Amino acid sequence: MRNRNINTKHNYDNVDFSENQSFVCTNCGKTVSYRGAGSKHRNHCPHCLSSLHLDSIPGDRSADCGGIMEAIGVWVRKDGEWALIHRCKKCGRLSSNRIAADDNPVKLLSIALKPLALPPFPLDRIEDIMIDFSLTDEK
Ligand SMILES: [Zn+2]
Ligand SMILES: [Zn+2]
Repeated sequence: MRNRNINTKHNYDNVDFSENQSFVCTNCGKTVSYRGAGSKHRNHCPHCLSSLHLDSIPGDRSADCGGIMEAIGVWVRKDGEWALIHRCKKCGRLSSNRIAADDNPVKLLSIALKPLALPPFPLDRIEDIMIDFSLTDEK
């Protein structure tokens, strides 16, 4: 019998996406169960929040890249729900994914706070900057 499973380009190919299955995260090496995500489709690791570049359109598993998608940002949707922005380390593609119920909250917050921790201007000058802006607004 011929092995039909020729396509082994990425790790999730042979994964059964039913509830009791788990996979090992390519990025952090932790075992991730599909249970606990709060939805049927877990698309990133709840520990390091990384994903794999497998989809061209969300869920289609058709991308050939297979690179690790790093969580680089958090944004808030209209309904107030948080979503992650992932960027592929290999090809640079960006994608947005809903957070899961069991995502690491410390990691989520640290991503959300990163731009505030590393502002593009010196924080000790923020008062001067605010004054400059308020003056120009009032004129
Ligand atoms: Zn991970
Ligand atoms: Zn990619």
